[in-house]
Amino acid sequence: MEKCPLCNNSAYYEKLNGKDTYKIECMQCGDFYITYQGILYLENNKEIKNDKYKISSYTRECKVLNKKPPFLISGDKEIFDENFYYVGIDLILKEKFPNNVLDILDRTLINLSKLSKKPGQWIEFNDETYFVLAYSENADIFKYILDSLYKKNYMEVSNLTKISVYGEFYTHARLTPEGWNRVYELEKNINKDSKKVFVAMSFAKEMDEVWERGFKEAIKELGFEPVRVDEIEHNEKICDVIIAQIKKSKFLVADFTGNRGGVYYEAGFAKGLGIPVIFTCKEGEEEYLHFDTRQYNHIIWKDIDDLKKQLKDRIEATII
Ligand SMILES: [Zn+2]
Repeated sequence: MEKCPLCNNSAYYEKLNGKDTYKIECMQCGDFYITYQGILYLENNKEIKNDKYKISSYTRECKVLNKKPPFLISGDKEIFDENFYYVGIDLILKEKFPNNVLDILDRTLINLSKLSKKPGQWIEFNDETYFVLAYSENADIFKYILDSLYKKNYMEVSNLTKISVYGEFYTHARLTPEGWNRVYELEKNINKDSKKVFVAMSFAKEMDEVWERGFKEAIKELGFEPVRVDEIEHNEKICDVIIAQIKKSKFLVADFTGNRGGVYYEAGFAKGLGIPVIFTCKEGEEEYLHFDTRQYNHIIWKDIDDLKKQLKDRIEATII
């Protein structure tokens, strides 16, 4: 047992393949990967010192939401490869940690809902490692967040109890039916603030210009970030990359020109998650569409300019 570089509690370190990379398992922070250099970055960067609980909240949230343990790196980059999800410590502080109170309340409610095996069950807070589930630095903030959820009628809380040096906090809480309903509403729109738009399409050479001047430009001009999987760094396990990207997208554009099987798969996956899908197809190729998807209102485009215009109109009408 050694000390966790995020919260200083005792944690398990597992050294990976003799390299100076560790998998750390911590009661408070959940599981994450980090290199020795990453640990030094955390230790030596004074600005991060008081914000470590924010990184701890993020890594714990990943665990509670059953996400892949993040690989913490210095800087503000985010990189996917077939083995790891690398995320910059500065990026976590800038973008991953909730930046306003309402967001903190919503995300705390989601975290706590994951700890309830069924509605009605009390969640027991028996030590201070629970604070980070409410994005809180200490017992006072934790209590404030739970009080706010109680006042919004999203949670019931137990009587206050004093625990060791950490002050007073609630030992038990549970979601009310309104709380469960709020979680349902939030999860339906889980990517509502995302800027990513996944484009599922053929990678045939003749589609390169359609991508560059059509899809990419239309999406960018509306302030979104187009993602096409062959532009992301990856090796062989392309499916994991695709799934991870679709899960984070605000919506997906599926172009059936060339009738590529993967596009049906990707569109279906997004629909299953409740992520909106815009269907497109080049004029003359719509007769090849599979009958399962013909029911959807496809944008039938004549040329690149036509595609760009129609796609922008559709996004403005149905997404923004
Ligand atoms: Zn920790």
